[in-house]
Amino acid sequence: MKRVTVMAIAILFSGMTVFAAHSTTLVPDTTKTKKVKPAKVQYTCTMHPEVLSDKPGKCPKCGMTLVKKQPAKKL
Ligand SMILES: [Zn+2]
Repeated sequence: MKRVTVMAIAILFSGMTVFAAHSTTLVPDTTKTKKVKPAKVQYTCTMHPEVLSDKPGKCPKCGMTLVKKQPAKKL
């Protein structure tokens, strides 16, 4: 009976090691692709799209509070 338990643990352990190795090789891959493009936030006026600022403030043309400009998403 003892041998069976040892075998079961050995199989379980090797299975976990394979799973852990598999997941660790996958994780850096996804983080790499995410880190390539840093999210650059720009602020713009809703009335004047030509007004761009890298920090929140007010539009120099109409005094409206600048809103975050969402990067164009490719569909
Ligand atoms: Zn404006």
